[in-house]
Amino acid sequence: MLALAAAKLGLKTHVYAEDPDSPAFDVASARTIASYEDEVTLAEFARAVELITYEFENVPSRAVSILSEACLVRPGPKALAICQDRLVEKEFLTAAGIKTTPYARVDDAGALARAVAQIGRPSILKTRRFGYDGKGQLLLREGADLAVTFRTLGGTPAILEAIVPFSREISVIAARGPGGMFVAYDVCENIHENHILKSTRAPALLPSEITAEAVRLTWVIADALDYCGVIAVEMFVVGEISGGDASKIELCVNEIAPRVHNSGHWTLDGAVTSQFEQHIRAIAGWPLAATSRLGAQSGGHVEMENLIGEDVLAWAKILSEPGVSLHLYGKAEARPGRKMGHITRIVPGPDQ
Ligand code: AMP
Repeated sequence: MLALAAAKLGLKTHVYAEDPDSPAFDVASARTIASYEDEVTLAEFARAVELITYEFENVPSRAVSILSEACLVRPGPKALAICQDRLVEKEFLTAAGIKTTPYARVDDAGALARAVAQIGRPSILKTRRFGYDGKGQLLLREGADLAVTFRTLGGTPAILEAIVPFSREISVIAARGPGGMFVAYDVCENIHENHILKSTRAPALLPSEITAEAVRLTWVIADALDYCGVIAVEMFVVGEISGGDASKIELCVNEIAPRVHNSGHWTLDGAVTSQFEQHIRAIAGWPLAATSRLGAQSGGHVEMENLIGEDVLAWAKILSEPGVSLHLYGKAEARPGRKMGHITRIVPGPDQ
């Protein structure tokens, strides 16, 4: 999707991926299939292109430092280093005065016992690195054996997180240009199933003071990272919303994604500029674009639904539904839990 957005702006992309079946190869001008540890090929790649970006944060920091020796990398290595390690990310947020999930550092089974004394149970044990879509996470129940739990998660450095009793999950998709210009899309409301994003609604149904605060926090985070590109910040909304009393609601940042984000996929069909084009503009140092949502003036909203695993088999039925836009990622195999595509729907408002 980034390559498609770049092509629209007359730019060519060269995709570096470890997977020989990377769907991005279908729409890029050039490809390199190599490991992120192949230092010679990384250096050759960096010399062959003018600007480098990434669309997932689990690129080893050593690879990024090799790339940034020969080429401009945006977002920069600092943002990536912070966002790819849950402990470093939480320490960064805490230092910036932003509320995050209560957590404790866990380097071994002994540290897990101390963390449980501090955080309590049930709680969630998460690996510091390489986790996504619920991978690298375990629910720690009352009575579970700590040494076994730590080993089950791979025995790697982790954090223990308190379970946040949230009423909603939201995310802010925003962009920051190299000169500090900042724009944000309407705040999204997200529903997860089995720790995987299932659907997004934009705008979130929250008091405007709360959505404004969510955008402000994202701005503070982007500035503190001296960020360049599209950023996504996932937050838990804690407190009862139904009364509309914003003073009883608190925001707690769960995670920062230094990239375009699944909860921003609705912008492909539901905003004047997609998050993908916005990211390309930001990293190229070009003017950022408007973020207005389509249908907003008539009181409508936009929905995005992920097609996970075999959900994708309903593609023909989805195509026959009026007003629905289908995006398939061209992945060869529909494994359980794998994101195969998504649909977006612009739902008209009462004035339309
Ligand atoms: P994560 O990979 O940390 O974004 O977690 C994926 C999803 O798991 C979140 O969007 C939540 O639905 C749930 N989750 C993760 N951490 C917590 C937590 N500390 N408290 C409550 N739910 C959580």
